[in-house]
Amino acid sequence: MKLIVQKFGGSSVASAQKMLNVAQRISSIRKRGTNIVVVVSAPGNMTDELITKAYEIADSPDDRELDVLLATGEQQAIALLSIALKSLGCEAISFTGPQVGIVTNGNHTKARIVRVGAKKIKSVLNQGKVVIVAGFQGVNKKQEITTLGRGGSDLTAVALAAALKADICEFYKDVDGVFTANPAIVKNAKKLSVISYDEMLEMASAGAQVLNARSVEFAKNYGIRMHVRPTFNNSEGTIVMAETTAMEKTVISGVTYNKDEAKITVRAVPDRPGIAALLFSKLGQADINVDMIIQNIGAEGKSDISFTLERENLKKGLLVVKKTARQLKAKEVLADENIAKVSVIGVGMRSHSGVAAKMFMALSKMKINIQMISTSEIKISVVVDRKDVDKAVNAIHQEFKLGRVTT
Ligand code: ASP
Ligand code: MG
Repeated sequence: MKLIVQKFGGSSVASAQKMLNVAQRISSIRKRGTNIVVVVSAPGNMTDELITKAYEIADSPDDRELDVLLATGEQQAIALLSIALKSLGCEAISFTGPQVGIVTNGNHTKARIVRVGAKKIKSVLNQGKVVIVAGFQGVNKKQEITTLGRGGSDLTAVALAAALKADICEFYKDVDGVFTANPAIVKNAKKLSVISYDEMLEMASAGAQVLNARSVEFAKNYGIRMHVRPTFNNSEGTIVMAETTAMEKTVISGVTYNKDEAKITVRAVPDRPGIAALLFSKLGQADINVDMIIQNIGAEGKSDISFTLERENLKKGLLVVKKTARQLKAKEVLADENIAKVSVIGVGMRSHSGVAAKMFMALSKMKINIQMISTSEIKISVVVDRKDVDKAVNAIHQEFKLGRVTT
């Protein structure tokens, strides 16, 4: 019998009515004779609300306890969905991550999955039941509850699909699929019918919110097809799969942006070996991820180093950098919160030249200043002033003619 894993995001189950609609959808597919494993996220903004509550009580809440708290969101969702399915006469049973054996490492609030038990789920599927599993959570060796990092339910779904050898892993979202740009910003953004894992991965890490980046990585490694589709209508959605030669024909698949970054500049540090190594190892030790880095050409034995990091890490990053800058006798440390990163992504870039020039041209026509540039094989990113993001994304989208043809 065909087996599908279906993942429903928080907005798909945000009210009793929505929960019932989702149950209706699952039940009608089940009736057609398909085995279904459902993964759900916490309803609506519940995870954010729980985090806020913890921070109202303490400045830096304990990570272990945060996991115990956050896991409750998904636990509510699975029980409610199971109740909804049963009320429709569809046999179902809910399980938490620990109950089905989603085993993780011990890294609280951003744990990695190390093993997924399939036995229990298989035996319940054989009884004809729909199995509902809480996303985003697992259990470590010490039997402690862990969570997988924000958006981690996508990862739960892919890991289950791999362990159960599911035919496909479907992601029901409040959007119609993956677009050439965020339709909220770009009016004629076009829905993509297929996209490669690598492009999706770059899009996710460049700021597109559609799928969790680690889930795409996992799916790529295990060859799991991901189908992103809308919860609230029957349109086709987008398939994320291995690259085909046809995909290479399109130069650019999409334009993304990330407004959650900030920039730190260290002015006039000594221009000698070991400086960058020292600065960035201190940041690494403080568990701060750095994204783009530029170092200017030195003058009079000094040079400037700028880098971007997640804005939520800015305070912590500044403390580390200021301390190191003092040791190095750097002139000053500057912070800029008003930046954003805009990226173009496409596997076709590998075989087409002039992509960067075209992107920069689009920005220059709009008189948007580029502060930093970085490239990978299939991505070009620039840092611009945050207030210019919408303009930049639209200009680039238009320059590459990515939009729907409107008449
Ligand atoms: N509820 C968690 C979050 O909001 C996990 C998820 O939605 O995938 O991050
Ligand atoms: Mg959520």
